[in-house]
Amino acid sequence: MTRMVLVLGDQLSPVLAALTHADKDRDIVVMAEVTVEAEYVPHHPKKIALVLTAMRKFAARLADEGWTVAYTRLDDPENEGSIPGELLRRAQEAGASDVLVTTPGEWRLIKALRASPLEVHFLADDRFVASRADFEAWASGRKQLRMEYFYREMRRKTDLMMDGDQPAGGKWNYDVDNRKAPPKGLNPPEPPQFPPDQVTQEVLDLVEARFGENFGNLRPFWFATDAQQAEMALDHFITHALPNFGDYQDAMVSGQQFLYHAVISSYLNIGLLDPLTVCQRVEAAWRDGAVPINAAEGFIRQIIGWREFVRGIYFLQGPDYVTRNALGHDRALPALYWGAETRMSCLSQAVEQTREEAYAHHIQRLMVTGNFALLAGIDPEEVHEWYLAVYADAFEWVEAPNTVGMSQFADGGVVGSKPYISSGAYINRMSDYCKSCAYSVAAKTGNDACPFNLLYWHFLDRHKLRFETNPRMGNMYRTWGRMDPDKRALILAEAEQFLGRMSAGEVV
Ligand code: FAD
Ligand code: SF4
Repeated sequence: MTRMVLVLGDQLSPVLAALTHADKDRDIVVMAEVTVEAEYVPHHPKKIALVLTAMRKFAARLADEGWTVAYTRLDDPENEGSIPGELLRRAQEAGASDVLVTTPGEWRLIKALRASPLEVHFLADDRFVASRADFEAWASGRKQLRMEYFYREMRRKTDLMMDGDQPAGGKWNYDVDNRKAPPKGLNPPEPPQFPPDQVTQEVLDLVEARFGENFGNLRPFWFATDAQQAEMALDHFITHALPNFGDYQDAMVSGQQFLYHAVISSYLNIGLLDPLTVCQRVEAAWRDGAVPINAAEGFIRQIIGWREFVRGIYFLQGPDYVTRNALGHDRALPALYWGAETRMSCLSQAVEQTREEAYAHHIQRLMVTGNFALLAGIDPEEVHEWYLAVYADAFEWVEAPNTVGMSQFADGGVVGSKPYISSGAYINRMSDYCKSCAYSVAAKTGNDACPFNLLYWHFLDRHKLRFETNPRMGNMYRTWGRMDPDKRALILAEAEQFLGRMSAGEVV
């Protein structure tokens, strides 16, 4: 009997479990562009365009390979508007009742499919190094889940950068050689740009008409939209940027949006690139002597370490994870996150490049937009929805643990052992943003004091009970405790005033 094989917009891999378990001669591939998926958060237009274009091209590839594909376009008048709705419609057309699906990377959609009256068969998404069961087994019985130990297991499992049972070079982690401040005159390569072809143009017109009002510039659109182009982007990264990846991984430079980053997360997350193959290519470049060990190890750790780890956390923690709010933060997300004017150069630059490219690198997300939201006590669910909307690589399984956990500490310490907070000094050390800022990073109080300086102490003071005994935060509290009481009171009062002005909608 005919079965339906559901392929979602972030499942565009030829090795997808639902495809490898299906029968090309008998089963029908169902793919659908639906309003619910396009609108559950106000996605950046570039993100919508990437997913829809890549879906159309992948459907064409499957058809060329002999699959029967039932594809629904967003503007199809028959479109039911949701994945379960489209499955029902196709089921009636084909006289089918069974659906094969690779488990989605989002609880919301898993729940919607579970509620379908059709027979939905969930298959594990095996495009990851660690299965959900592997992660659960690793996590079971551990008091704390720390990425570094999980990562070592993944190195052993994949044999990446291993010499026998020992890490290549003798160390698991070369971060002491990474994270340099950016020197003047860095000249990083731009990621390759792929001019829109006819399929892309059609999607761009559709997205402009339907989602042109969303935050974000649709054009110029230059993303890779099929596996071949994504491979070209990877080649370009390995040859031109990877050698400096480790050194300047945490650097931020005005006007240089990509520095030495790979800019491949969206390709990995929708299935155009395979994570293990990417890491093997990086290891080969190191073994050939083309890149230093700190760059290769640091990069591989991001993928088989962090990327796998956060996915494990997302599924282990369950559907309520995105609503956690361990620190009780409830301030509304200020309009500056949607591009309203701000005098803070770091935030203005991070948000502006997000608007232009649907991209910001890790430290911009963690130590600028994330750090500010955490210090200012913004409601973590609003912060989560913002990240989910504005980045082209944002899918809940990877975005939520990074935002709710790593960046906002709203999970109470599942992902990180301490909150990622800093005053302006860190941003000043790792970027040139402060040079063009209306505030002074050196000023600790007064009208021109950097808001990060004020809010840093405000955060520590208001969460003293929770964090004072954290061994990794003892120094911060000792410094705060040694400060003159009048100065402490002034800092707290100025921080309150700043937050009040921000919440009242004033330009801050
Ligand atoms: P590079 O810096 O070149 O790193 C290489 C690859 O490593 C990335 O492509 C990515 O696949 C992987 N990687 C690196 N760090 C992480 C991480 N912390 N978690 C998972 N994978 C990682 N990444 C997403 O893919 N989607 C998201 O929605 C997302 N949201 C984030 C939200 C916040 C608040 C923070 C702090 C980080 C988030 N990240 C997310 C992680 C990271 O910022 C991006 O993966 C990275 O910036 C993508 O750019 P790149 O491809 O140039 O990465
Ligand atoms: Fe950001 Fe403060 Fe530096 Fe301005 S002075 S760019 S607000 S860290």
